[in-house]
Amino acid sequence: MPSKKSPRPTYSEPNPYTRFFNAHKSLPPDKNGQKQGVYNRESVYVLSNKSRGKRRSGRENNLPTWRRRGGNEDHIMVVTQDNTQQQRDKPLLTASQLDSICYDVIKEPPMQFHVNGTDIVPSIRGLRLSVCVEHTRFQLVAKVTRNMGFQHVPEHRLWNIQWSDSTPHHDLLRNMKRFQQINHFPGMVEICRKDLLSRNLNRMLKMFPGDYRIFPKTWLMPTDAYDVAIYANKHKRTFILKPYSAGQGRGIWITTDLRTVGKREKLICQTYIERPLLIDGYKFDLRVYTLVTSVDPLRIFVYNEGLARFATQKYVPPTTGNSHNVFMHLTNYCLNRRNSQYMVGNGPEAGSKRKLSAFNKWLVDHNYDVAEFWASVDDAIIKTLISAWPTLKHNYNVCFPKHDKIQASFQLLGFDILVDWKLKPYILEVNHTPSLSADESVDMEVKRPLIRDTLNMLSTALVDKEQIIRDDRTEHRARLLRNIYNKKAAAQMPGYSSPIREVGGHDVRQACSIGALTQQIAWEESHLGNYRRIMPPRDSSKVNYYCKFYEQNKQPMFADTVASRRREQLNLQAMQKHQRERQQDLVQQQQNQTQAQNRIGKHVRWPGDLVQGAEVNPVILQSRRRREEAEAYAKKHRALIAREIQRQKEQLLAPTCAKERLGIWQSVRREKRSQFSPKRGSSITKGYRRKQQRSLSQRARQQRMLEMEAQRDAKFLEEHAQKQRLEGGRVVGKSESPDLTSKITTKSKTSLKKKVRPKGKPDLSKETLRESNHCQMTKSKVELTPGTKARAFANWTAGTINEAETDQLLSWRKERASQLNETRLRELIFSKMYENGHLTKNDIKCFPDLLYQILNNDCEEASSR
Ligand code: ADP
Repeated sequence: MPSKKSPRPTYSEPNPYTRFFNAHKSLPPDKNGQKQGVYNRESVYVLSNKSRGKRRSGRENNLPTWRRRGGNEDHIMVVTQDNTQQQRDKPLLTASQLDSICYDVIKEPPMQFHVNGTDIVPSIRGLRLSVCVEHTRFQLVAKVTRNMGFQHVPEHRLWNIQWSDSTPHHDLLRNMKRFQQINHFPGMVEICRKDLLSRNLNRMLKMFPGDYRIFPKTWLMPTDAYDVAIYANKHKRTFILKPYSAGQGRGIWITTDLRTVGKREKLICQTYIERPLLIDGYKFDLRVYTLVTSVDPLRIFVYNEGLARFATQKYVPPTTGNSHNVFMHLTNYCLNRRNSQYMVGNGPEAGSKRKLSAFNKWLVDHNYDVAEFWASVDDAIIKTLISAWPTLKHNYNVCFPKHDKIQASFQLLGFDILVDWKLKPYILEVNHTPSLSADESVDMEVKRPLIRDTLNMLSTALVDKEQIIRDDRTEHRARLLRNIYNKKAAAQMPGYSSPIREVGGHDVRQACSIGALTQQIAWEESHLGNYRRIMPPRDSSKVNYYCKFYEQNKQPMFADTVASRRREQLNLQAMQKHQRERQQDLVQQQQNQTQAQNRIGKHVRWPGDLVQGAEVNPVILQSRRRREEAEAYAKKHRALIAREIQRQKEQLLAPTCAKERLGIWQSVRREKRSQFSPKRGSSITKGYRRKQQRSLSQRARQQRMLEMEAQRDAKFLEEHAQKQRLEGGRVVGKSESPDLTSKITTKSKTSLKKKVRPKGKPDLSKETLRESNHCQMTKSKVELTPGTKARAFANWTAGTINEAETDQLLSWRKERASQLNETRLRELIFSKMYENGHLTKNDIKCFPDLLYQILNNDCEEASSR
């Protein structure tokens, strides 16, 4: 059986920059003890030729990897910037040799590019740039970039440029590093979707009616169906209908009867250009490639070469018979190549797809003013882009708040332009990803240089990737530290830059800094290739002309459209209806109230009450109504709360088994207990039940004992009271018997009796007893002396008890017996102890409620007297 091998750890190859820095680390220091500044040199890649063992040797034949080894033994391979060398041609050097090479390169004079008429020299660092072409279907892009020396990297690596066919996700844009560029501007959809484009252009046309006649009259169906119907009534025109966001001629049809259009169909309705410019009798449109390198400021370049795409059947103005012929009326390549009459380009002046240069030649041959024509094309392109400019600018600043070195985006757009017989260009459509497929030789001739020139125009080479990575790391660390320690300490760290904010609250780094922008401009001007700059225009008078279009967002975007007007109208109607209903309600309420008050007979005057003949003040009425509503609501709320409290009370007071078990409800009767006893599961053992029974019987025994004790206490108290009464009557006077008095006072000192009892409080029991024995007491006071005390005790005899005393005693006994029966034993004992001055601090602490009760009773008695 094959033994299971443990999975081999995946080998992650360090990126070229890591390798480069590692190489730098291993370089020996120079005479001054400092290392050479290798990283200042352009495009140095250092690779070790040391293999990592036998297993990997196969893989490493193609891809040498860095292996750390100090000293001069290690051999270093230098990869040049253009990457043109074969693997075997690459020089193998020792560290010192590399050092000398680097030295030579540093000494090389830098390339200099002067912007026309200025002294601006962009500082250019030659770098080996990386590009991610994972998300494009056009092979030509990958091919051209490889030939240009770009390194192809996957998306997760730190690419310099990403070329993708679809608009990237917002997350990708936000996470882009400051040296990265992508081929889409966020928000370009504003002109790349047919409906949005026509909405923007219509808006601009409304604002600048004389300037924006750059596209055929367009309506959005079904919103503008009414408007287009009015227009169709007045003018006998042919219309072309296109779906909002389809492409390549899908779903397009031509009609003169707009009643054939479905009422809910979402379509673009455009006037059909019935007299287009024809070449050799064929209709054609132009694909003009336009590069936008920046939106703030807007910088637009148009490629001098492009394509003219021809229909494959000779053009005849639309009739009911031919309007379905797509090969005659539509010029899409995707449609026409399916026609057997499609002509693959055979020379510059033949074929269904021709170069713009051929078209220009044809114009010259036919005495058209080419320059004027292209000026009007440029004008249309500029105006189209300006129509989306506020959105583009805003989105860019939101998505790339930190891109301060270079532009984060660029975009190659494909403008579809139709030319009429007067040589007037019309913008039909803007493609955010123009096709870069090379099906024919003409494609190759146009698109290959187009891609190359586009990439050359990008100022990505101006940025120092490693420096930015280092800066970002430092800043990140500083930010973390700032959170941990304090802001001051972090601010002192090298490389930390606090975000500086402008007065308006914008981050200064939101847009490219002026310096970076200057460098970018210089770079672009020196790398135009076959591009021409159209924005900012070279003619200063035109600069002022276009300035006014930037002011567009002073007006709301969708103001005064048919839809908005209708919306406003409907809103107004709804509001009026609502107000009428409100008024009726109020009047009704008032009437009801007056009737009710009349019935009651008294009239409480509220502000806003209906006064006969006076007008109702709606504001007061409204406030009154609100107050009433608030009151009703509060009442309802209070009722709810009360009900909830009641429910909770009931729940608390309900005798449940749980409470019984806890000992809260010990007085639950036996039958009730059985009613509430939980159904015990079989898992509960007999032992547990026995334990329960034991505890119950124990409790019952305790209760019995308590009762017995209580009885005994009562008996004792009775005897004690009797004895005291007899003692007080017969023997002891407070002043005359110091021993006994001291006994009583020491006991009473411990109690709070004297402190808390209100002055003049009559002690009922004692008082009556004293009164009854008053005569004998006075006698004994006279007779008794301190010397005769012992004798008096010895000769003690009970005095005669009269009937009243007997009755009183009996009633007192009855009362106490009834109290005992009612099990108010505790209260009884406590009150007795209080009366006798036997209460201790502890008693008071344990039963404060009883003391409070007694004092309360005393007070009540005192006040009643
Ligand atoms: P798609 O995105 O499907 O290509 P377009 O708007 O580019 O849609 O239109 C397709 C073709 O229809 C164009 O190439 C052009 O030949 C023709 N076309 C479009 N609009 C008009 C128009 N208003 N007048 C005349 N022809 C038009």
